[in-house]
Amino acid sequence: MEYVSTRGAAPALDFRGATLAGLASDGGLYLPREWPRFSADEIAAMAGLPYAELAARIMQPFIGDAIAPERLRELTAAAYGRFAHAAVTPLVQLDERQWLLELFHGPTLAFKDVALQFLGLLFEEFLRGVDDHLTIVGATSGDTGSAAIDAVAGRAGIDIFMLHPRGRISDVQRRQMTTVLADNVHNVAIEGSFDDAQAFVKRMFNDPAMAGRFHLSAVNSINWARLMAQVVYYFASALQLGAPSRRVAFSVPTGNFGDVFAGYVAARMGLPVERLFVATNVNDILHRALSSGDYSASTVTPTAAPSMDIQVSSNFERLLFDLGGRNGAALAEQMAGFEATGAMRLTNAQREGAAALFASARADADDMAGAMRWAFEATGQVIDPHTAIGLHAARKAEGLGASVPIVTLATAHPAKFGDAVERATGLRPSLPARVGDLFERAERCSDLPGDYAAVADFVAAHATRQA
Ligand SMILES: *Cc1c(COP(=O)(O)O)cnc(C)c1O
Repeated sequence: MEYVSTRGAAPALDFRGATLAGLASDGGLYLPREWPRFSADEIAAMAGLPYAELAARIMQPFIGDAIAPERLRELTAAAYGRFAHAAVTPLVQLDERQWLLELFHGPTLAFKDVALQFLGLLFEEFLRGVDDHLTIVGATSGDTGSAAIDAVAGRAGIDIFMLHPRGRISDVQRRQMTTVLADNVHNVAIEGSFDDAQAFVKRMFNDPAMAGRFHLSAVNSINWARLMAQVVYYFASALQLGAPSRRVAFSVPTGNFGDVFAGYVAARMGLPVERLFVATNVNDILHRALSSGDYSASTVTPTAAPSMDIQVSSNFERLLFDLGGRNGAALAEQMAGFEATGAMRLTNAQREGAAALFASARADADDMAGAMRWAFEATGQVIDPHTAIGLHAARKAEGLGASVPIVTLATAHPAKFGDAVERATGLRPSLPARVGDLFERAERCSDLPGDYAAVADFVAAHATRQA
């Protein structure tokens, strides 16, 4: 399988190259040249497979001969063996129509583990036996950072630099990163928002002074391999609910458009997805883009769902590329306009293509608290604020056939955001035993100003140069 950049000017790469590169050299994002498709019979034959086996089947067409099928099964077994639930991503029924897909049974309690536990192993696989050293640079609104650090801490040949916006993530999120004291882990708290941190990372990838000295790589959802691994749980849950003979809708709490883009990929691969609800908090650029074609960034408002406090949704570019006829030059121009002015309009083709599969909804603080309360009072389920945003959209869903179940992606364990859960429900969820001593461990983190040069200097001073 070959991977092409959304902006059309970077060289096509194979799966290994796209995984190690993260961002394309023209500033675009990699996508497979075409979507592999499964027939209804092939999908039906996957029912009941163990998660790790299903993951290998779904991902193999994207990986091609970069990893042999037997080896891929070993890697998925290792990655998903670290999950605390044997089903890896279990489904829970809330009422006749509403379901929760629990994606938080990994080591750091959020759905990012599903992709990053596998990505950590992929990096190691691709670096084994070659004289290379990877410098992973990432920005996190909280959950990517902890999941990525857990996935690569102590691994040979890899350094990781993780930037988070100081004071804007929860204590549990911060401690899950800063208490990992492995030598190859570097936590940086910057002054500013997640978007500022993400902009520094993107700039570093395009900075010849950095790219020439270090083999930079990304673990944010700009990395294709992450999205690929997330496609699997759409198949897993839909199969349990009767796909391919029954259509299924999903509601996805969305920030960077990665998780919900994986749902789009599942649909392109042949999974009968009836609708994808893009659920945002008050940082609603995606809701505005999908409902009125207006993709314009404003300032970030901090909310109780910090992993979605994002105004620039990197992966939306992938959708715009695929819906706009895969014209890299046209998309590069559209994105340059956005980067210069902070605003752009979707083309008619992009709007119509999106409307065929996506709907969107926005939840404010009351909507979010209301969904947490409903889940607790009506069903006994304690859910986190991000999941609540998805559930709010799912409960408002209109225009679906009566037999279509709606699966809300439960993206984080409620204990990760205990204060907000307690405010809404009166109940304080306890941390699972596997992370129990988090608040007793020592922390290590460097504070930096919101200034690109300071961040680049820090990375240059601490990273290992490429061979
Ligand atoms: C990252 C994250 C999201 C948003 O996912 P995207 O792929 O960025 O859209 C939602 N909820 C939680 C808990 C997260 O960690």
